[in-house]
Amino acid sequence: MTAANGIRLVLFGPPGAGKGTQAQLLKESLGIEHVSSGDLFRHHLSNGTELGELARGYMSRGELVPDEVTIGMVIDRIGGIADSAGFMLDGFPRNTAQAQALETALLERGQRLDRVVHIQVENGELIRRLSNRYICRVCQRPYARDADTGAPPKKCADCPDGGDIYQREDDTEGAVVNRLSVYHQETAPVLEFYRQRGLLADVSGEQTIDAVHHSVLRILNVSELGAVSKS
Ligand code: ADP
Ligand code: ADP
Ligand code: ZN
Repeated sequence: MTAANGIRLVLFGPPGAGKGTQAQLLKESLGIEHVSSGDLFRHHLSNGTELGELARGYMSRGELVPDEVTIGMVIDRIGGIADSAGFMLDGFPRNTAQAQALETALLERGQRLDRVVHIQVENGELIRRLSNRYICRVCQRPYARDADTGAPPKKCADCPDGGDIYQREDDTEGAVVNRLSVYHQETAPVLEFYRQRGLLADVSGEQTIDAVHHSVLRILNVSELGAVSKS
């Protein structure tokens, strides 16, 4: 790692672990691009593209969209990011074929990942979080229901005109249970792929949002201001 703004990361963890939430904070701290495969798919869905139509059924059932579609979409998005700029992937890779394809595509650009941050949260807490999750229709920032009133926020705090807040149709109980089992069967094996490459760092996601953020910054060896200390 030479400059904080050039860090290349994967934020890894089950649905509801807090990847999107942490990505938002890291974007503010480090200024690197956030590449979320789920956000890219939802963008295609709301624009009614062919790719979106293909992904729709898989997404609503909580299954993985086939690699032939997913890998190209994400690698194309990374290809649009300047070589010197950093990025964090969120929701990709989700199986070892995707991890392998990512490694190959980066090597073709003379690049490697710097770190894979694994955010750990137990199933019971994931189900609680996903059933309370709401997101912004414009920027896709995740929110939670207010702990006291039980109400979701009405408008997004980050969008200029206050984007509408809605609940994802795959955050219903059936799709959530399926996503968690897909995670444990197909996605968790990717941890071993990265452990073998010495890239994996675990962090407990069962702390406050702020405490997780600080744990991640410590793992990346960067201060709040994005300065990288020599190590
Ligand atoms: P969550 O944030 O709850 O983990 P995502 O927004 O990452 O969910 O993903 C939503 C859905 O989009 C997934 O259930 C899956 O259908 C599809 N999807 C997202 N990323 C991938 C991927 N890397 N491979 C296959 N399907 C994916
Ligand atoms: P992911 O992107 O991994 O699927 P999100 O970032 O969308 O997860 O978070 C899922 C839900 O949990 C959201 O409603 C978010 O506000 C909430 N959340 C995220 N991090 C925490 C945390 N550390 N403690 C409690 N709730 C959290
Ligand atoms: Zn927004």
